[in-house]
Amino acid sequence: MYLAESREKLASFLKPLFSEPIRIGFVPTMGALHQGHLTLVEQAKRSCGFVVVSIFVNKRQFNDPEDFKAYPRLLHQDLDLLQNLQPDVVFLPVEEDLFSRVQFPDFPLHPLDTVLEGAFRLGHFRGVAEVLWVFFTLIRPHQVFMGQKDLQQCAVVERLLQRHFPEIHLVMVPTVREASGLALSSRNLRLSPEEKGKAAAISRLILKCAGQVGQEPWPVLQKMLQDEIQRAGFNPDYVALVSYPDFVVLSKHKPSYPNAICVAYHAGKVRLIDNAWAPGPLPASFLA
Ligand code: AMP
Repeated sequence: MYLAESREKLASFLKPLFSEPIRIGFVPTMGALHQGHLTLVEQAKRSCGFVVVSIFVNKRQFNDPEDFKAYPRLLHQDLDLLQNLQPDVVFLPVEEDLFSRVQFPDFPLHPLDTVLEGAFRLGHFRGVAEVLWVFFTLIRPHQVFMGQKDLQQCAVVERLLQRHFPEIHLVMVPTVREASGLALSSRNLRLSPEEKGKAAAISRLILKCAGQVGQEPWPVLQKMLQDEIQRAGFNPDYVALVSYPDFVVLSKHKPSYPNAICVAYHAGKVRLIDNAWAPGPLPASFLA
C-alpha cells in the first residue's frame, strides 16, 4: 500500500501502469472511514487489478465552514483499516498542491445543482465536480466506485463522466447500513446515542415507505416521513420523490424510470441524508 502525498508522487507511481492492460479502480473518500467506504474498496478490489483510494477533506464542497472544521479527521485509524484491504495506493493530497495550476473546464450541472442538495448546499456539487475532475485527470481510472448513500452526487458524477470522461464508468454501490437501518456516515460520530436511535427509526421508515411508493399516494407517504422527522425533534430540509439521474421532483410514482425517495434533515447540529429506491427499474450504474 503506497502512500502518495503529492500529485507528483502519485503521477510517477501511476505512470508505468497507463501502458499496461490493467484495470484501475478508484474510490474517492473524505476519510473517517467506516464499513460503507470499505465496501467500496472491497468492490473495487474485486473488479479491478489496481485500486487507488483517496482521502481528502475537500474544502470546496463544504458550503458551511463550521461543518468543514468539525469534519472528523482520523488518518491513522483510516490507514489501519485500509491496511486490511490493501489497496495499491492511498492518495493523501493537500489543497494547495492538488489544485495548483489547474484550469477547470465547464461543468454544466443544471438542474442538479439547484434542487435538493444543490439548493440546500449552494456550491457543493461544483466543489465535488472540481475535485473529481482533478482526480480523474490524474488517476485515469476505468471505474470509480461511489455510494448510493450520496445519490445526487452519483447523478453529478454520471453527468461529469458523460461530458468529460466517457471512458470512465461509475459503479454505484448500495448504501451500507447498521443493523438498526441507519445508513453509515462519518457524521454519525457526532450524534448522541438518543439522536442515533431516532435517526435509525427515520431510516427504517424511509425504507418502508420506498417499498410502498406506487401503492400509497406519494403525498401520504411524504407526510408520514415529515411527521416522523418532526416528532423526533429534528428539522427536515426536504422529503422528496425524484427521478434518477435527472433529479426531477415528482408528485407521483413514475415507474418507467428509476425513482427514489431522498431525505435530508438536521439532527441537532448534524445534517443527515438518506435515500431508497422505489419499485421499478434501477440505473445501469447501480450494483444490484
Ligand atoms: P465521503 O467520505 O463521505 O465523501 O464518502 C466517500 C464515498 O463513500 C462516497 O462515494 C459515499 O457515497 C460513500 N459512502 C458513504 N457512506 C456510505 C454508506 N453508508 N454506504 C455506501 N457508501 C457510502
